[in-house]
Amino acid sequence: MNDILTGKTEEHLTRGFSGFLFNQKASSALEILSKRAKKEGFDLRVVSSFRGFEQQKNIWQRKAQGQKVLLDSNGHPLKFEDLEPDQIVDAILRWSAFPGASRHHWGTDVDVFDANAVAADYEVQLTPQEVAGVFAPFYSWIDELVASDDAEGFFLPYDQDRGGIAPEAWHLSYRPVAKEYEKLYSEDFFIKHVSNLNELALIDEVKNRASEIYARFISNVAS
Ligand SMILES: [Zn+2]
Repeated sequence: MNDILTGKTEEHLTRGFSGFLFNQKASSALEILSKRAKKEGFDLRVVSSFRGFEQQKNIWQRKAQGQKVLLDSNGHPLKFEDLEPDQIVDAILRWSAFPGASRHHWGTDVDVFDANAVAADYEVQLTPQEVAGVFAPFYSWIDELVASDDAEGFFLPYDQDRGGIAPEAWHLSYRPVAKEYEKLYSEDFFIKHVSNLNELALIDEVKNRASEIYARFISNVAS
């Protein structure tokens, strides 16, 4: 189970909706949701479903070492050279999960968009601008379904700004399974996970702040 929670195994996954790796039940539910979307004129597509530890680690390393641009709370680029280590950690975690602490490890969570709203060669960014702009009708539809608990079991863990991870209108989570994983992913579990990591940029900073990071960036999601 620990390896499932931290993205170090794929044993809990199947090749599911649109050929992406998923928890089987989440995949079936997404299949139904996509058929309902079609009736509304949307083409529900996946940007990202499962991401493993190594993939998340790669994102972390690039951002923590200034190889990938960091964004402030509102999505504007920051100057890496001007940042203190704790500011770098904050800037990364606002937009990217810590390796071993991403809901995308679970196979229950998925980022989606509406392919009907854009040209075939459009590169989806998943930004607040897209949420308010080109994909607004689609994400409003999702939002309404979730609000009335009619989204085939999916909810939006990052539905609003709780001071940690930025709002993500595109990030769906399959509640029946994900909430069970959430319960297992305790503060102790995270602290233990972090204490076992060494080969990671800024790891000492994260170790020192593990409790705060857990409270702010991991556990405070929609209920
Ligand atoms: Zn996501």
